[in-house]
Amino acid sequence: MRKEDNGKHIIVIGAGIGGLASACLFAAQGYNVSVYEKNSTPGGKMQQLKKSGYRFDTGPSLFTMPFQLEKLFEKCDEKLENYLHYRDLEPLARYFFQDGTVFDNYFDKKANAAEIEKFAPNSVNEYANFLKRTENLYRKTSQAFLFNPLYGFTDYKKLKYYDFLGIDAFSTVSQKVDKKISSPHLRQFFKRFTTYNGSSPFKAPATLNVIPHVELNMGGYYVPGGMYRIVESLVKLGKKLGVEYHFNQIVHQINVKRERVKGIFLKNGTHIKADAVIANSDATDTILNLIAPDTISNSRKAKQNKLEPSCSGFVMMIGCRNRWHQLKHHNVFFSNDYRREFEEIFDEKHLPQDPTIYIANTSWTDPGDAPQNSSNLFVLINAPYVQDNQDWDEITERYSGFVIEELERRGLDGLEKSIEVFEMINPKDFLELYRSNRGSIYGTSSNDAFSAFMRPKNKLRGIGNLYLVGGSTHPGGGIPLVIQSAFNALELMKRYNPK
Ligand SMILES: Cc1cc2nc3c(=O)[nH]c(=O)nc-3n(C[C@H](O)[C@H](O)[C@H](O)COP(=O)(O)OP(=O)(O)OC[C@H]3O[C@@H](n4cnc5c(N)ncnc54)[C@H](O)[C@@H]3O)c2cc1C
Repeated sequence: MRKEDNGKHIIVIGAGIGGLASACLFAAQGYNVSVYEKNSTPGGKMQQLKKSGYRFDTGPSLFTMPFQLEKLFEKCDEKLENYLHYRDLEPLARYFFQDGTVFDNYFDKKANAAEIEKFAPNSVNEYANFLKRTENLYRKTSQAFLFNPLYGFTDYKKLKYYDFLGIDAFSTVSQKVDKKISSPHLRQFFKRFTTYNGSSPFKAPATLNVIPHVELNMGGYYVPGGMYRIVESLVKLGKKLGVEYHFNQIVHQINVKRERVKGIFLKNGTHIKADAVIANSDATDTILNLIAPDTISNSRKAKQNKLEPSCSGFVMMIGCRNRWHQLKHHNVFFSNDYRREFEEIFDEKHLPQDPTIYIANTSWTDPGDAPQNSSNLFVLINAPYVQDNQDWDEITERYSGFVIEELERRGLDGLEKSIEVFEMINPKDFLELYRSNRGSIYGTSSNDAFSAFMRPKNKLRGIGNLYLVGGSTHPGGGIPLVIQSAFNALELMKRYNPK
């Protein structure tokens, strides 16, 4: 139930998951909340496409740590189960290696061990031990780094010096995996999880080996009817709590006077007063472009500009009159040379010549997502963030043809001639559609040991009532962490502006 109206107006810039979650949390506390979104629909990067009988999730396809969403609903005095259903998936995903090895990765430990036995019998125990290690990492890091706003003295006090020992902060994901796992297939498998945070396993600290724990020990979930139901459930909850949504409204500037936010200017010049603003717009865009000039120091802007964005994505949505028996719901077709692939993405900054190709084939689980005997393939390849000198129209045209050929070579016979629906999203589209920094899809990268501390915090220092939420802020990208950023914003508001 919503607390009594406190007469205060909060503006949320952007209706991504972070904006929608914040809107609900603050409305439940009695604030009058208005969301201003530049696009015509809520959800930000979490969208869906429906065309000619096919349905695609155009952004996230894997739902992890559902307890975060449950907690959000609880904090608003509601039950998630009254708004949304989600279910587990077995196998979690099918992995294809180019030497013909296929690995069905099961959540069920026995079924998974039986799978590993087929191609890497000596690594069955290594896998189990590595998972224990990832669980241990989660135990050591989650309260200190994930569920902690890392803003004030009290937050940093929670970081004990021994937190840094034993969390593998000073070796890379790849080094640690190679040390603990002997099977080349499982090495590549475990390194892949670093991409969930848009980083390179050859650069990111081995602390990120916590990510496999989240999916492999805690579970990977799917929302029947599509991931967009998460967006719909948040909007429904927001409306019940009195949130007002304004679409097709670009926020041009955050108006700041004497270190306090006074409101926002829309692109059409209208000024809307606010007692506080929560920016779900990309943090780099917010700090460099949205906050009124002369409010933020040049050194702060330079610091922000220096943060390396996460990778972007090259997305193809292919509706085709064909079904391939070898595809499951989540499918990963690995490259032959993983190190080379990440060098191309993060160092040379071009699309990989031998990419790892992820395919979400949700019609395997939800037959309604494609016509009979057809498939809705959501194809995602990790891509470099946008550079100034790239012609993405030309690259997209050329690369999409290559990917189709590559998928046929990797076993999807007859793909090209069965295509009925074909849509793409490239890194430049991510930049233009959502104003994400250089088209990054998970905020900033974690390609060095200190990036966890460098991400913008959920309250901007120096401006009393400006909060930042979303994947480009602490604690990072992905649905559960983005929801955490909204929890943090509320906590910081209560701590520093209690009235
Ligand atoms: C292809 C892809 C696959 C992914 N897969 C997964 C996955 O499987 N699991 C997972 O958990 N996560 C995944 N992610 C990451 C996840 O989608 C994001 O971390 C999350 O959705 C980001 O939410 P956000 O709150 O940061 O907002 P965003 O989605 O970035 O939304 C921000 C919103 O603000 C609006 N906005 C920006 N500037 C302005 C302005 N000036 N005025 C008005 N509005 C503005 C934008 O239009 C946008 O709607 C994936 C992302 C992509 C793109």
